[in-house]
Amino acid sequence: MTSTSTAPAPEPTLYIDGKWVHSKSRHTRTIINPFDNSAITTIDEACAEDAEAAIVSAKKFFDTSDWAHKKCAERCPLLQKVADLLQRDKEIIAEIETKDTGKTLTESRIDVDDVTAVFRYYAEEALKLDAEKQIAGEGIPETVNSRTVHDPVGVCVLIAPWNYPLLQICWKVAPALATGNAVIMKPSEVTPLSTIYLTKLLIEAGFPTGSLHLLTAGGASVGPTLTEHRDVDLVSFTGGLDTGRRIIQSCAGTVKRCTVELGGKNPNIVFSDCDLDWAIDNVVTAVFLHSGQVCSSGARLIVEESIADELIAGVVEKARHIKMGNGLNPESETGPLVSAAHLAKVEEYVKIAKAEGAKLLVGGSRPDPIAHPELSNGFFFLPTVFDRCERSMRIVREETFGPILTVERFKDGDEEHAIFLANDTKYGLAGGVQSKDVARAERVARRLRHGSVWTNTYGSYTPRAEWGGFGLSGNGRELGSKGLDEYIETKHMWTENKPVKVGWFKGQGPLLKPKL
Ligand code: NAD
Repeated sequence: MTSTSTAPAPEPTLYIDGKWVHSKSRHTRTIINPFDNSAITTIDEACAEDAEAAIVSAKKFFDTSDWAHKKCAERCPLLQKVADLLQRDKEIIAEIETKDTGKTLTESRIDVDDVTAVFRYYAEEALKLDAEKQIAGEGIPETVNSRTVHDPVGVCVLIAPWNYPLLQICWKVAPALATGNAVIMKPSEVTPLSTIYLTKLLIEAGFPTGSLHLLTAGGASVGPTLTEHRDVDLVSFTGGLDTGRRIIQSCAGTVKRCTVELGGKNPNIVFSDCDLDWAIDNVVTAVFLHSGQVCSSGARLIVEESIADELIAGVVEKARHIKMGNGLNPESETGPLVSAAHLAKVEEYVKIAKAEGAKLLVGGSRPDPIAHPELSNGFFFLPTVFDRCERSMRIVREETFGPILTVERFKDGDEEHAIFLANDTKYGLAGGVQSKDVARAERVARRLRHGSVWTNTYGSYTPRAEWGGFGLSGNGRELGSKGLDEYIETKHMWTENKPVKVGWFKGQGPLLKPKL
């Protein structure tokens, strides 16, 4: 949770035109550790004037430096250097991320390793863009050299959410810089600290002044300036559906490129042939990791009737024993929700679910403060399971982004109904299919209208494969080679090596006199 004030920030946290500066507004924001509601630090709250300064700097750099015209091969060593620096400072960054988000240190370390892999992947993948693609064949004279080349898009605004702050900004900044853009990063106001640290590493790696900017601010402070500005060429946004819609509308006026990666309400289908213990572990991990604050979390269990009662009983039992605590404590298995505001939202969804008639099996509240005084200052919420859920309920249809599992059942053997339920969502980010019958699992997985589908596992990803959603989960792809495509323009170049007169206009028509 954060709050704005005018108490000075100990260090400037805006990086504009090669300098660390305080906000022109002098407004600041206190960053809170969600584990115990204590203040971690105070940062600058950028204003519209700061956003304008960042855009001017980025535009000037993009237009006047040779950065955009270099080969990727010249820029990519800088990405390798960032990867080295991330590994050098892995423990520092992991601790920052854990204090800021509440997630466990183990998860934060995995995030640092993952983003290291992202920088390394794009340092290699971007090299492929240096090759010109020759276009020959019917309709192209032999005297012509026709080829496509790649240019960077220009000034890119990169906006990230609070749940995976380091990860989400790196998925954007690595391909954007590899391809020669000038970037303005805007992390979530709730969890900006790892992005501030990342900026220092990018500077240390040697990215030139003007290629890199950082604005720490809430969406309302700088959002409209960034997204409506005519000198911003691209907005890449990850966050909630409502904000995504607003951003698409803001970008429309200048027809700028705009990709949005949004929420999910992700089904996890479990067939009755699964080993029970294994399936319990699968379902619990899919939904309760990072206290459910994962866009791809398996929040909807869709289970075959004959295994349902036993599976649910096992899930409930395991949920009861999840060890919540300080992410810095190696014994903690999961941390708190990120903020008081988010906790209130999750509590509201529990009320809604009860009112809709869903049956609460476990959780549904904050931990008992007498039994767990160590959790009472933080934003903890117990792992929660609702049975008897119907597809019409809001708890099934809307993203709670908390540790809440809903259960829907399908009749034994009714594969079609399982698929129908899994696809019955406005979102389409991710889903799981669990079955020992490999042919069936493959058949069902193929039919799911979701951007990532896991069979007999849940949640893995690689920088080498695209990530993104169908439906209202978004309109772009990050990671993989398509993640690079988001940041490039493709230019067709047609060069005539033996110029001849075209002769279309022969000069034999009547004299066309201008009307004076
Ligand atoms: P959010 O939409 O509230 O905020 C996301 C970012 O947008 C923040 O940096 C915020 O400051 C900024 N913002 C808010 N209003 C803005 C405006 N008008 N203009 C410009 N920027 C603005 O989302 P959140 O609560 O931070 O993140 C949670 C959401 O993110 C969930 O819905 C989750 O599913 C989604 N998410 C999606 C993915 C994915 O890959 N699809 C990954 C992680 C999170």
